[in-house]
Amino acid sequence: MIKLEVKLPIQALQCMALLRRLPRNHPQRPTIEKDLRAWLKGYYGEKDADYYLSFLPEEKYLIFHGLRLKDKSHFQMDLLLISTYYALIIEVKNISGKLIFKKGSNLVVRQIDNKEEGMDNPIQQVKRQHIQTMNWLDKRRLKGLPLESLVMISKTSTIIETTPDNYQIFQQIIYAESLLDKIDELEKKYQKPRFSQKKLLHLSDTLLKEHKIAVTDILQKYQISQSELINSVQCPRCKCFQMEYFSANWHCPQCKSTSKVAHLQTVNDYFLLINQTITRNQFSQFLQIESTSKAKHLLLALNLPSSGSKRGTIYNLCILSPPNENDSKKGEIY
Ligand SMILES: [Zn+2]
Repeated sequence: MIKLEVKLPIQALQCMALLRRLPRNHPQRPTIEKDLRAWLKGYYGEKDADYYLSFLPEEKYLIFHGLRLKDKSHFQMDLLLISTYYALIIEVKNISGKLIFKKGSNLVVRQIDNKEEGMDNPIQQVKRQHIQTMNWLDKRRLKGLPLESLVMISKTSTIIETTPDNYQIFQQIIYAESLLDKIDELEKKYQKPRFSQKKLLHLSDTLLKEHKIAVTDILQKYQISQSELINSVQCPRCKCFQMEYFSANWHCPQCKSTSKVAHLQTVNDYFLLINQTITRNQFSQFLQIESTSKAKHLLLALNLPSSGSKRGTIYNLCILSPPNENDSKKGEIY
């Protein structure tokens, strides 16, 4: 049973928001586009894993995608499977080309299109997650469940190369299509239940409760200042900016379309790129709404948790999902 679904990583959403709001000729665009492609590849790799996991008995395994927990520092696992018998951490890699593992090295060489680049050794990466998860379980008095970890390569077209004295890596690294065989092997190894069903559910609840996604300072990462971003509401149809709000609708000056919810993506962009809280002033400025009463009305309609009072009120943001435009025409919430 999937307890935490695979979602587009927040870093991918941040790159998308940046690409929406940076001018076409901005020098950082190629780097951001490259990073976005890598985040999306990782995401599709995890989606592929879901296909194989769908063959597992629903009631036996609880599956978590992208769990982010805190030991001494935060750590994130691509996939965690728990059962009453054992738990399994999987680091998913969706990488094209050839991966060359050198014995004892923290770096892996990736060869693609006659170019070479170094990347973190995923086996070492999952080993660290293993230690951190053991510590995390110990501290919550949830020890006793055997923990296994492995690296899963999404595509069989990825070549893995190493020297004969390093062949033991193939115990820890598998192709996605062998996942079910590996799970079969682990089921033979762990035939005695270590946790009761009740304890397993307690572990599952604790994992979900402590899962916290971080929003990193993306502007700092790419050395971009807030003044370089395009403010105002983007037209969902023609993608131009400068939508105007009147008569309870957003109006596009270019394609003449109207929307009641076009500002939701703008609010999400503010959350992803600038800050996780917003004041009424910041809201008016970023959405380019001149009328204080309209800005106040739109902000209050979002029903965000807030602290403080009057003009000093600080609203806490989260990712808002736009309701279906046709439904909102009936409901008129925005
Ligand atoms: Zn338009």
